[in-house]
Amino acid sequence: MTTTQVRAACPLDCPDTCALLVTVEDGVATAVKGDPDHPTTAGVLCTKVSRYTERTYHEDRLLYPLKRVGKKGEGKFERISWDEALDTIAARLKPIAERAPEAILPYSYCGTMGLIQGESMSSRFFNQIGASLLDRTICAMAGATGYKYTIGGSIGTDLEQFQNAKLLIIWGGNPIASNLHFWTRAQEAKRNGAKLIAIDPYRSLTAEKCHQHIALLPGTDAALALGMMHVLIKEDLLDHDYIAQYTLGFEELKQRAAEWTPERTAETCGITVEEVVEFARLYGNTARAGEPVAIRTNYGVQRVRGGGMAVRNIACLPALVGAWRHPAGGVQLSSSGSFPTNKPRLQRTDLLKKIPRTINMTTIGDDLLRPASPSFGPAVEAVIVYNSNPLAIAPDSDKVMRGFLREDLFTVVLEHFQTDTVDYADIVLPATTQLEHMDAHTSYGHLYMMANNAAIAPMGESKPNTEIFRLLAAKMGFDDPCFKESDDELAAQAFNAQDVRAMGFDWDALKQKGWQKLNMPAAPFAQGGFPTPSGKCEFYSAQMKADGLDPLPAYLPPYESVASNPELAARYPLAMISPPARNFLNSTFVNVKSLRSAEGEPHLDIHPEDSATRGIANGDMVRIFNDRGSFVAKARVTDKARAGLVVGLSVWWKKLATDGKNANEVTSQQLTDMGRAPTFYDTLVQVERVAA
Ligand code: SF4
Repeated sequence: MTTTQVRAACPLDCPDTCALLVTVEDGVATAVKGDPDHPTTAGVLCTKVSRYTERTYHEDRLLYPLKRVGKKGEGKFERISWDEALDTIAARLKPIAERAPEAILPYSYCGTMGLIQGESMSSRFFNQIGASLLDRTICAMAGATGYKYTIGGSIGTDLEQFQNAKLLIIWGGNPIASNLHFWTRAQEAKRNGAKLIAIDPYRSLTAEKCHQHIALLPGTDAALALGMMHVLIKEDLLDHDYIAQYTLGFEELKQRAAEWTPERTAETCGITVEEVVEFARLYGNTARAGEPVAIRTNYGVQRVRGGGMAVRNIACLPALVGAWRHPAGGVQLSSSGSFPTNKPRLQRTDLLKKIPRTINMTTIGDDLLRPASPSFGPAVEAVIVYNSNPLAIAPDSDKVMRGFLREDLFTVVLEHFQTDTVDYADIVLPATTQLEHMDAHTSYGHLYMMANNAAIAPMGESKPNTEIFRLLAAKMGFDDPCFKESDDELAAQAFNAQDVRAMGFDWDALKQKGWQKLNMPAAPFAQGGFPTPSGKCEFYSAQMKADGLDPLPAYLPPYESVASNPELAARYPLAMISPPARNFLNSTFVNVKSLRSAEGEPHLDIHPEDSATRGIANGDMVRIFNDRGSFVAKARVTDKARAGLVVGLSVWWKKLATDGKNANEVTSQQLTDMGRAPTFYDTLVQVERVAA
């Protein structure tokens, strides 16, 4: 027996981007383990990826190209050859490409985070066509935009420093489920005497293990940050020297923060005045004592109308107290802006003959149903889906389904499994998993460039995304040499050659070693140097003003809340959020039996007061509904959800849920204040018991 160990990287939409060691015995992957030598992975993987071989060798893997033989949505297919599949696709796309290229739409996201199997050859293909551009907003754009206006880019506290913090604020995230290797460091900080505070409307697994949990109303994080600023300024818990040297707009901020008294903040956030004041004092006093205060904020805070502003406000706090001076101080939302990627070259944006229209992936429901018009352009006639599952993950799901049901829409899906979206495809193309192809990765949680080597041969007739788009390009008659480049050639272009050379490193070396840490200062903004237009942390942002936004930190109430929309709340009085279930990653893994069993079935956490008034007992089946739709789940009566809030952990495949529906039946296509992102956690619903 030949046994080898292959260096790989986790491809999933998770900030940890773990280094994997794949054991291969006679060509079969028998184990996937965390690399003990990788400083942040430290030999530990989450339960999901520990089961990656179960997923790779799953009996339901798509192994051959398929064509639809039933009605759209029925999921009936028959096997065809690659030639027939590619010829069919090219025959459908060519006339559209000649007549109205923007009627072709790619739909993809972070099914893999890989630079190569994500957006490389695929982007080249769509750029050559002149297809509609896809605005990939569905997860992070609101927060990234708010952070960028303030800090200048997605750069923050290094993951490898958090264990040294004295006060650690986990703001809008549940790292036990979705940022495990940060949580390891948070626990170390706790053992070292740090205080941990969770800010989350829901008492998540993480919030339960923190010293303090501030359970504010969903969508009010921006107000809490403003209230903190008020107290910090009023009680002079500030680092005046840092503010003077490295920030812009303090005097204007002071006036704005003066409006946010603890009383107003407490009322807006649904918490007590003491919680506001004590929290701000602890933050300011700890920093004043010279101790590191760190915030790990996550994307939960920005899935509401004012989500971009919420992240902006939070990102202002470290500069007020000088927390950036310490390597373990500051804030992290994402580290993705630290990496020297070269996407224009990788994606060959120069192939575009003109800039096509852009369609927002968040509004796919509306946009698939939109007729041609001078403002919209041509109706969408063909969608090619890869690395995504819009039927399960996009908001306002009924509209998404109706769009994909259109008889005149030609749909191609590249997938590992027959997901909800595959059921609506005309042609299905089997794609390889991470163990079967190579890739290059950055991370949005740590500072290591990562390489993924193929560990095993492709299963069945599956092919890497790159190869599928190479073959499609050939069938379409694209003759630019860039469509012949190998995955290795693509990977070599993924990073800025100059920056990589400065690190004394190249792609071949990265593949051998598996990872390479970036050269970053331990405390990136200890002496300012923010990548903003002013070079300072911008409390006042002229760019925001130019973009039609409030240039100062502000609070925008949710679209849907009791306070902001009492008429709607009279009919739908409960706020609903749908954060990630621990055993799924977005909609990945829902079909892996062991993980689905661990998750059980779709649940709805509801507070005892809210269940009592509705005659709902623990374990009852309930219908959650609003004007957009409904879905069914099993009630868990618990005070983990604060009164007035219900929580449906997600994202279930609809076809594996009780009634063939999931939480996105009730979420809306409304967009955030900035970044054009979705507002998944800005949703009012009513809940009723379903008769047995
Ligand atoms: S999902 Fe996250 S924690 Fe799990 S293995 Fe992948 S990167 Fe690591």
